[in-house]
Amino acid sequence: ELILGLETSCDDTSCAVVAPDGRVLGAATVSQIELHNQWGGIVPELASRAHIDKVLVAVDTALTEAGVDPARLTAIGVTRGPGLIGSLKVGVDTAQALGYGWDKPVLGVNHLRGHLRSADLEEKRVTFPALILLVSGGHTLLAHMTSSADIRLLGSTVDDSLGEAYDKVARMLGLGYPGGPVVDRLAKDGTASIPFPRPMLADGLNFSFSGLKTAVRNFLAEHPDAPPADVAASFVAACLEVLEVKCRRALRQVEAESLVIVGGVAASPQVRQRAEAMCTDLGVKLCLPPLRWSTDNGAMIGLAAWDYLARGVDVGLRPTSSLSLDLF
Ligand code: ATP
Ligand code: FE
Repeated sequence: ELILGLETSCDDTSCAVVAPDGRVLGAATVSQIELHNQWGGIVPELASRAHIDKVLVAVDTALTEAGVDPARLTAIGVTRGPGLIGSLKVGVDTAQALGYGWDKPVLGVNHLRGHLRSADLEEKRVTFPALILLVSGGHTLLAHMTSSADIRLLGSTVDDSLGEAYDKVARMLGLGYPGGPVVDRLAKDGTASIPFPRPMLADGLNFSFSGLKTAVRNFLAEHPDAPPADVAASFVAACLEVLEVKCRRALRQVEAESLVIVGGVAASPQVRQRAEAMCTDLGVKLCLPPLRWSTDNGAMIGLAAWDYLARGVDVGLRPTSSLSLDLF
């Protein structure tokens, strides 16, 4: 009972062998950070080519680490979207070819469902009903989940995602790509003394981060000598306050036993700390993916693929650049 999960939607080529209970037997991720760092962001065409170079290396390494012969696999799960079309196509074509060669079914998986399931990797954590906060490079949304099949969207960003805002602020501060981890680290040494705006704070469960990003840009133009650590700390403080206010509001509106925070920004120690404090205060169980599985990886795709198999869902393998969390 093992699924091979394959993820190539963005800038990581990642593969893992995953059991139905979320145990990861072997995994490999080849990052393209160095490749894209020289351009200050992801170059889609370079990403696709790098996936072509590395995808079979990642598959081989994951299988070898797991000590598993492909004949033992139940199925292959591969990200079909959302993401960069060229990158998705490399993953899907590879999975299809492997499935054909090994005579295994291939399931197209929604990357966002992968992130969602990352919180149950290595051990089962999520209990229902749950509030989901997905904060990644391409998405920022709140959803309510009463069972693994029943997801209702509550709100999402109307412009930039949170991860995008981190990345852009990092770029303004000359910190390179990806920006989340560096902004986060720098912020620890600063004082949150600059009153950046908290966009849409009073306004329901949607988010907006583009105004905050612009406020940081304007501030830096007017105060080129401001300590970068203070700018980072003030930016992070604004983000954390927005996240907390929205989560608290959502938790008043829906019934939730647990709060599940997933997506790349869930790797942030500051986000984790703030969420822990809030959940302790509210008596809500906090479910976080292990750090290693917060950013894109094949393991979460493999675990999500088990849901598809269990429900007999087969949505095909057409790569799709945008896809909502509530869809398979
Ligand atoms: P999506 O999942 O929405 O399609 P994606 O796959 O590109 O987008 P993820 O890999 O889930 O996004 O997350 C990447 C984002 O997470 C980047 O914007 C990155 O800056 C951010 N990130 C990663 N680590 C941290 C961290 N420690 N603190 C804050 N942000 C982080
Ligand atoms: Fe992602």
